[in-house]
Amino acid sequence: MFQEIYSPVQKIEIDLFDNLFVKRDDLIDPYVSGNKWRKLKYILAKASNENKKHLITFGGAYSNHLVATAAAAARFGFKSTAFVRGEAVQNEMLLLCSLFGMKLIFVDRQSYKNKNLLFKSHFEDDSNAYFIDEGGASKEAVKGCTEIITELNETYDHIFVAAGTGTTAAGLLKAIQYKNLHTILHVIPVLKGGDFIKDEISKYTSISDHLTLHTGFHFGGYAKTTPELIHFIKNFTEKTGMLIDPVYTAKMFYAIADLQRKNIINANDKILAIHTGGLLGILGMKDKF
Ligand SMILES: *Cc1c(COP(=O)(O)O)cnc(C)c1O
Repeated sequence: MFQEIYSPVQKIEIDLFDNLFVKRDDLIDPYVSGNKWRKLKYILAKASNENKKHLITFGGAYSNHLVATAAAAARFGFKSTAFVRGEAVQNEMLLLCSLFGMKLIFVDRQSYKNKNLLFKSHFEDDSNAYFIDEGGASKEAVKGCTEIITELNETYDHIFVAAGTGTTAAGLLKAIQYKNLHTILHVIPVLKGGDFIKDEISKYTSISDHLTLHTGFHFGGYAKTTPELIHFIKNFTEKTGMLIDPVYTAKMFYAIADLQRKNIINANDKILAIHTGGLLGILGMKDKF
């Protein structure tokens, strides 16, 4: 069902960083991008095994997960429907979802909270319907994310990843533990109060010394930015030719530069940053640049 993927490791050669490599999951696909493909891979396999033909999922109006699910559904022969949080809007991300054939159902914030009820009330009689949680969070998603580690040909002292739900981080940690690597996983929650990420990770694997959470790099909260972060993105992109987005990966790269500058991370240590993709998110933040 699934073709080979393209996610090379590249070295970053700018003066901000000493010994930094990037796992380019953003290159996997422009739409089924980065960790969203990692998460969907085994979810789609499971849906397919259960003979389900209609993917039902959930997200906000600028969700990378919705675009990824819509594109993957179209590519692998599924129908797709999404419950979108909030009043009906039009934007670039939702346009892409529609082009890939996804049906959009807008629901108010209160109803959105009970996803199981939404699924049941709309699709109880549809034996083809397959429930995919917001952001794809699931055991299958964690399994897909472990492959980011098992694909690597070298080991690193530190691996960095941005976190929304922590599902991707859980997969990385699980693989680091399983392979008995000396690597420390540094997780950068992009939301305020990111300590909850630990609870999320502990649903899938044990919390160990391999995990460090850095909760101070949210820049005001989810999808919030500051002029400093925007400046960082412009400089980074201009110098490296690699796009990063204000919601996720910019906060991670900023954290790496900051921790190196403060000597919390040793200058000579070998670091791998996971580029989790999601660059379309920039379209929702045009006015910030
Ligand atoms: C969704 C997303 C994340 C967050 O992944 P979680 O598994 O929810 O922590 C990180 N980076 C990008 C680019 C994303 O689109």
